[in-house]
Parts: sequence; structure tokens; C-alpha cells
Amino acid sequence: MSDSMRDKQAGLLLDEPLIFERSRSGQMGFDAPELEEADELLPPELLRDAIEGMPEVSEPEVVRHFLRLSQWNLSAATTFYPLGSCTMKYNPIANEAAARMAGFAGLHPMAPDELAQGALELMAELQDMLAEVSGMDAVSLQPAAGAQGELTGMKMVRAYHSDRGDARRTVLIPASAHGTNPASAALCGYEVQQLEGNALGVVEADAVRKAIGPHVAALMITNPNTLGIFEREIAQVAEVVHQAGGLVYLDGANFNALMGVAKPGHMGADVLQFNLHKTFSTPHGGGGPGAGPVGVRQVLADYLPNPRIVRDGEVWRWSDAAPKSIGRVRSFHGNFGMFVRAYAFIQALGGNGLMRATQMAVLNANYVRARLEEIYHLAVPGLCMHECVLTDKHLEPTGISTLDVAKRLLDYGFYAPTIYFPLVVSGALMIEPTESESLETLDEFIAAMIAISEEAASDPNAIHAAPTLTPVGRLDEARAARKPVLRWKAD
Ligand SMILES: *Cc1c(COP(=O)(O)O)cnc(C)c1O
Repeated sequence: MSDSMRDKQAGLLLDEPLIFERSRSGQMGFDAPELEEADELLPPELLRDAIEGMPEVSEPEVVRHFLRLSQWNLSAATTFYPLGSCTMKYNPIANEAAARMAGFAGLHPMAPDELAQGALELMAELQDMLAEVSGMDAVSLQPAAGAQGELTGMKMVRAYHSDRGDARRTVLIPASAHGTNPASAALCGYEVQQLEGNALGVVEADAVRKAIGPHVAALMITNPNTLGIFEREIAQVAEVVHQAGGLVYLDGANFNALMGVAKPGHMGADVLQFNLHKTFSTPHGGGGPGAGPVGVRQVLADYLPNPRIVRDGEVWRWSDAAPKSIGRVRSFHGNFGMFVRAYAFIQALGGNGLMRATQMAVLNANYVRARLEEIYHLAVPGLCMHECVLTDKHLEPTGISTLDVAKRLLDYGFYAPTIYFPLVVSGALMIEPTESESLETLDEFIAAMIAISEEAASDPNAIHAAPTLTPVGRLDEARAARKPVLRWKAD
């Protein structure tokens, strides 16, 4: 094969050039008919014959270019994707078909209520299902993501306290929390006071007792926490907070360890968010779209966002009537397509199916933990819930770090786990297999992790050079973030 052939795309590993490099003067992807009266329709300063700097390519070239690039992307549909805390489970194709039904996909968000009865009913039922599975009293589907659900929840907490003329200023948050927790509290004007977990990564009621007081508006706690460990003292912790007049916010991003098994409403949570794009199997990654419904106990129900779905005789309606509502947190009614997918997922599994999914997710995580803890260092000893956190401690003498392991996994055909999170663990590798994976896939992944550990000792340079089987090698990620080149220039 000649070099010039290789420069074009030979074989299957495509070295795709920038679309600007494909540009050839005079090529066109779309040939619009000449518009005679353009001058009359548009002011002359808005008319132009050419757009400077745009690539000139044919339609098939555009299609192939972007399709090829899309094939470089890893996703839960192409590979094992054990990104801890993100719950990258398989998204059933049947859910996609449901979301694409013309009546749902083509529905305008401002359609009159009478013409959107099916959509409203689906949303009302989904609210009830989420309330049931979490043990909460009421749910709003409006927030667009987990982080926005947190913000919505904390706004309700603030509205609740200010209604009582109570100027509480502080929110308690464990050190292992996701960064969005302190961010959400701070956006609501609160100061964050950090709580330390014990040696097992768990928040003790005693630690909360020491920190609590009339200044504390709420505790934000993740259960299971970001170390994949169940907060054993959650009930006592919630009681301490309630006795001091505070509220308990439960970050529900890790609900994949609870479905059908335990309810945050029974743990003393007053408010929580669901991440439909994690637990309830709607696609995520690449920036969205997500959906972060909030659930509340009765004490906060008055403050839920407006508008709300109400039953008015025989019809469903949107209502803005709740006077204490914090108002809207998002345009229209939330990411409706996600609601259809989550609804389909929950209906397909039913209560027992959800429980079984959780059990499989926890079993899978513990299988990975049990097989790898002999080699990799385990952040917290003992059983985990739906994810396990390993570290690079045993690799220290070889000079190989968590980042190197993550890069090398790409050569083995696996997406890397979450790395360097939670921040309380040095060199963390956080593995969440979810219930979707077969024993064979888990064994292949475990074999790759073991092989990398052996390579670290025998051939560390190979790992430093990884990945070598991907279209591009190791990128300078810091420079890409600080000096992004977003504009192509011919020179
Ligand atoms: C993912 C996650 C969030 C934030 O959810 P987004 O939908 O990404 O905004 C919050 N807390 C935890 C523990 C998470 O894993």
C-alpha cells in the first residue's frame, strides 16, 4: 500500500483529518435554488456570497466525516463503561422506541393541556412511582440534572427556614461528597461546614452531634456515599439533625444501590434528587440531557417548583396555584424524553425487577472488589454497595499511577473507571459495573486490571506510553483545557 493511500483512510483504524483539510474549492453539500428577490427580503448588509473560512465539501463527505468521528467515541453501547458514581448502565432500545413515539416526540411543550393528556398522565404516574420507590410524599420532575435537583432541594430548604423566620446559615457536608453538593449549598447563600467520615468512610452520629446547632439549616449526605459504602448510622444522624431543627438532604445519585431494597424516606431524608440518567436508565454523557427530579416529605411539599400537575375532574392540568412554591427552576416541564424512558424502564422491571437490578449491581461491584482486592489496594475494607474504590498504592514502587492505569485500560478496550474521586482517597479508581454486565465481561475487565498491574512491574514504560491503540495517544489534557484551539486557520 502506498503512503498516499495510507494517508487517505486505509483499513479500519481511520485517521480522520479535520473537515477543513478536506475542503476543495467549489464543492458543495447543499445546492439551494437561486432566490431572485433576496435583496427585497433581506437588508443588503445581511447578504453575502460566501462565508469565509467554511469548509467546502460534498454531502457524503460530511456524513462520513462525522460518522467516523462518532465511531471513535466510547459509550455504554460500545464497551464496558465502569465510570464510578455515574451508573453507566445499558439503556434498553425499547425505551428509545417509546421516547420516539410521534405523540411524545412531536408534542410541543406549550400545547394546551387538553391535547397533552397522555404526556401529563405519564408524568403524574412517574412522579408517583418515584415517590413510591424512595418513600417520599411528593415529587417534581422539573430539574434538568442531579446538580439542579440539589439546587432545587436546597432552595426549598431555604424557603422552609425563612418561612419560620429562622436565619440558619450553615450546611453540613461530609468530605467525601460530590463537588456539586457544596456548590449547590453555596449558590443558596449557605456556608459549608465539612464533616469527616470515620476510618470506614462513614459519617458517625457523634460527629454530627458535635457539629450541629441552631445555625445548621441542613445536612447534605450521600447514601451510599461516594466510597460505595452504606451510611450505617443514617437514621441516628437524621435524628440528630431533626432534633436541632435542621433538615436532611439526601443526594440520591447512588440510588442504584437502593432501588426496591431501601427507601431514603425511611432513613429520615426530607428531600432528595433522583438522577434518571443514572439509576433509571436514560442515556447520558456528552453533556446531557439529564433529568434530576426532586422528592420531598410533607414538610417541604408546599415549596416544590411550579407549575405542578393537578387532577381537575377528568383532566390533568398544569397549575401555578401553590403560593409558597419556589417557582420555576427550568423552562417548560423538564426533559420530557427522559421521563418516557425512565417510565418505560420502571414499567418493564416492576418492583421486583428494580430490586433484582439493585441486587445484581451490588453483586457485580463486590465480585470486582473481591477479585481485585488481593492485588490493588482497597480504599475501605469490607463489603461495598454498587461500586468499589481501589487505589494505586501497591503500584508506588513502579512509578505507575492511577492515571497510567486508566490510560492503559483503553488499550485493553475498556473505558476507564472514575479516577481521583472521591477526593478523600489518594489515587482513587472508582469502579461501578452496574447490573448490566455479564460475568464474562467482568472477568475480562478483571484480567485487564491484573495484566496492567503485572506490566507495571515488568514494563512500566509501555504503560507510560499508553494508550497506543487509540487514534490519538496521550493528550496534554491540562493544555487542552487552558489553551483550547477552537478555530481552524489555514496557514
Ligand atoms: C452525578 C452525581 C451528582 C450530580 O448529578 P448530575 O446529573 O451530573 O448533575 C451529584 N452527586 C453524586 C454523588 C453524583 O454521582
